[in-house]
Amino acid sequence: MNKEKSEKFFYEAQRLMPGGVNSPVRAFLSVHDTPFYVKKGKGAYLYDVDGNAYLDYVDSWGAIILGHADDGLINEVKIALEDGTSFGACHPYEIELAKLIADAFPSIELMRLTSSGTEATMSAIRVARGFTGKNGIIKFGGCYHGHVDSLLVKAGSGLVTFGVPDSKGIPEDLARHTYIADFNHIDSVLNIVEENQDIACIILEPVMGNMGVILPENDFLYKLEELCLKKHILLVFDEVITGFRVAFGGVQHLYNITPDITCMGKIIGGGFPIGLYGGKREIMEKVAPLGDIYQAGTLSGNPIAVRAGIYVINYLKSNSQMYELIDKYGDELKNTVLEIARKYGIPYTINSITGMFTGFFSDYHVYDYNSALSADRSLYERFFKLMLEEGIFFAPSPFEASFVTLSHGDNELSKTVTAYERVFKKLS
Ligand SMILES: *Cc1c(COP(=O)(O)O)cnc(C)c1O
Repeated sequence: MNKEKSEKFFYEAQRLMPGGVNSPVRAFLSVHDTPFYVKKGKGAYLYDVDGNAYLDYVDSWGAIILGHADDGLINEVKIALEDGTSFGACHPYEIELAKLIADAFPSIELMRLTSSGTEATMSAIRVARGFTGKNGIIKFGGCYHGHVDSLLVKAGSGLVTFGVPDSKGIPEDLARHTYIADFNHIDSVLNIVEENQDIACIILEPVMGNMGVILPENDFLYKLEELCLKKHILLVFDEVITGFRVAFGGVQHLYNITPDITCMGKIIGGGFPIGLYGGKREIMEKVAPLGDIYQAGTLSGNPIAVRAGIYVINYLKSNSQMYELIDKYGDELKNTVLEIARKYGIPYTINSITGMFTGFFSDYHVYDYNSALSADRSLYERFFKLMLEEGIFFAPSPFEASFVTLSHGDNELSKTVTAYERVFKKLS
């Protein structure tokens, strides 16, 4: 595979940007490779500057659900552009998007748009703290909520009382308000809550996507909901990936749970920068200018992002059978690939839900942080490179979700299966 032009660009980029990139995973460091440079995307494919095509399972980390450069979306955006790119003032489309979201997510009575998912989660925990008058936050090891100071804290092993900063540059004073619990282990949450009266909220990806896909098991989500109610703790669902992906109404619709605050992003901007947080009226009424919790944004509610989001959500709404199609794609892929893995004796397990899946190189059931970590990373690295040579782009890290769009059809399915067959044979 010729990567000459990409390599030249990457060389140049490294002189100007840290690691050559504007977001760390794009550097391909964890798979010891160099990134390709995208020239364009169309449907399920990316095309690089050297003329290589890749069937895309990264899909802008889940932001793309119709496929790249969707014709209808492009038309809508062209029309929107004619009216101006940013106003810093009210416009009717904000209301249209808010209505669509409130209809799909009944738990969201009042909401605020931001320009990224990070801003949404950052604001959500500020609101949780302001509303409850408490400072503590419980998050789960392996859950990612953007690069917010308080949420970049993970955990060592065992029961950690005080968070240890994951990134330099985060004051210990701040990190110590973040408590780390174990996803799918309700006892780990109960223990923290029992020892601390100061918990404002529990924030989680209700279906994990950032440790690879990990589904909530047994009554985990219900028990969290129950606990929050009993202890006056706010339940914050980070549905930045899952909103409008796993179902039109997100994880909360699938599991019939009513979080106090929900964060969204990615899909709701149709590939433009966006974020959203919202929830119960009495909570969100504390946000300025109604209340005294301040949060603002020059580009919040940007008309292009908003009109792109409206287009995508309306499309999904009027084509609800699409969820069945992407679900069927995922199921067929999973069943066939697991068969291939068995045939070649590759330790492989796939976690999936509508529109997203992760294949872990593991013989074990992956249901929490530790079982995910036990997957074989060097096998993944070889898999990633061989797949790329087959023209298939999976995430350049073993602990990420792969995404299916409406542009992934029968051809893409058989192309993927053929590539798995060839790659697993080489790995065996
Ligand atoms: C991507 C992501 C974020 C952060 O969104 P950005 O737009 O990258 O700031 C937050 N939470 C989850 C679950 C995400 O996947």
